[in-house]
Amino acid sequence: MKIYEYQAKNLFSQHEIPVPLGKTIDNPQQLDSIFSEFNSPGIVLKAQVYTGGRGKAGGVKLTDDLDQAKILAREILDMNIKGLPVKTVLVEQQIDIKSEFYLSFIQDRDNSCFKLIFSPQGGMDIEELARVNPDKIWMKAIKYFPGLQSYQIREILTQLPEISLSAKKSLYTAINKLYNLFIATESSLVEINPLVITGEDKCLACDAKVVIDDNALFRHPQLASLRIPEHEDPFEREAKEKKLNYVKLDGNVGCMVNGAGLAMTTMDVIKHYQGQPANFLDIGGGAKSQQVYDALSIIVKDPAVKVIFINIFGGIVRCDQVAEGIIQAKNKLNINHPMVIRLIGTNDQLAYKLLKNENLQVFTEMSEAAKQAVKYLEESPK
Ligand code: GDP
Ligand code: MN
Repeated sequence: MKIYEYQAKNLFSQHEIPVPLGKTIDNPQQLDSIFSEFNSPGIVLKAQVYTGGRGKAGGVKLTDDLDQAKILAREILDMNIKGLPVKTVLVEQQIDIKSEFYLSFIQDRDNSCFKLIFSPQGGMDIEELARVNPDKIWMKAIKYFPGLQSYQIREILTQLPEISLSAKKSLYTAINKLYNLFIATESSLVEINPLVITGEDKCLACDAKVVIDDNALFRHPQLASLRIPEHEDPFEREAKEKKLNYVKLDGNVGCMVNGAGLAMTTMDVIKHYQGQPANFLDIGGGAKSQQVYDALSIIVKDPAVKVIFINIFGGIVRCDQVAEGIIQAKNKLNINHPMVIRLIGTNDQLAYKLLKNENLQVFTEMSEAAKQAVKYLEESPK
């Protein structure tokens, strides 16, 4: 689960990681009281969206003039960043930045441990930095037992000769506290970019990103309550409520598959034949006709979808249940999209009979089916 920067910064404050003074607004008029409250005129306006790279997209603006701030806030609230509408702006007191660092903790599943990632060149996009200057990215493996060790932090700090001892001390504390937060919240990622040293030699988290592991959320009701369903992608929200694993993508082949592995393979096969999946959708291993119906109802709501590709392997799932779900959805929802069905496994003969009665063609080979889906796509009106 992603949370907003302002929510992440509240968590930081609870864990004693210093953050700039800030308040959220959803209307530029609210800036009047904020300007009188902050004791310096310089402010930063920051779009709150569940994605990074806001700075580059124009979603972070600095000003020290109230009228100008109102205009900028309006502009930001009218923005879409990577397809996401901005509904909230975080207003912060401007910070006098002396140095910018990058700090994060992630789960390293390949090595069954955690990883601390630090860079003395913070502020910029870390993926870009990894490409142009990989020696400026320092990593430390951390075992769950004994956890982050002080020597690991000192190894990083001794490589930063240009900052003062007092700045190093506050960095040391911030790194430790961020690790504590990472463990306490069972997050899959915590990131500060930039982690800054101010003109007064204090360490401050200027940005904050926390991604909470959904599988651990049941242990953290206070974190679960940070979810704002109205701000999530409407298709993903509906899918979550119906217990389907759905991720919106930007293609036009609507996919319905059972099992995450088969769903990934299906997307690869579609791409192999030059098609673009509109979504990842795993209806789960034991799906019944209702889940099939629900899944199709979500797929057809996406206006980008031109062709529907169904790829089901009936292991525990019964093919006849799948066929019934498809037929119900097709008739009740008046689905007119070309549909390609690849169905094989338990009770498949029964399913084929049902689908044949509805004039629906069934494939047994995945690649044949994918080819047909792309062919329909080429024939569909643009
Ligand atoms: P991102 O682009 O989504 O990662 O947004 P950030 O919160 O990281 O802001 C982008 C950049 O804006 C930072 O790297 C800083 O250089 C700059 N910035 C953000 N807040 C301040 C501030 O208070 N003072 C100054 N001088 N620069 C800031
Ligand atoms: Mn940032």
